[in-house]
Amino acid sequence: MKKVAVVGCGEYMDSGYGCPGDWRCLKAAAFSEGEFDEVSQVVAFLKCSCPGRSVPPNLNMAMRLSEIKPDVIHLSSCLVNAVPKCPYFTPEELAEHITNKTGIPVILRTHYYH
Ligand code: SF4
Repeated sequence: MKKVAVVGCGEYMDSGYGCPGDWRCLKAAAFSEGEFDEVSQVVAFLKCSCPGRSVPPNLNMAMRLSEIKPDVIHLSSCLVNAVPKCPYFTPEELAEHITNKTGIPVILRTHYYH
């Protein structure tokens, strides 16, 4: 089973409507739906905070403390599809930055539920 970490947009999560972490990302991972190409175990779920600087160090800290290295990291659908867009970076830029800092591939989006 693949181990995955998910990164959600903290601005969106804190607004409290259908946010990442309620069920969508978790269901998609559990049932191999959306961008999960196999049944996946979510071993970390992190919240980005503006301006996003803390994401790579927090991922590295989560890996160190949990002693689990995810096979892939997903940027949540809410983060990738956000409207208005994140003012600090594109999802592609964040994905590249995370991969450069952690050595782990990043996939854009988690699910396609409404
Ligand atoms: S930096 Fe962008 S993705 Fe991160 S919490 Fe702020 S708005 Fe969301």
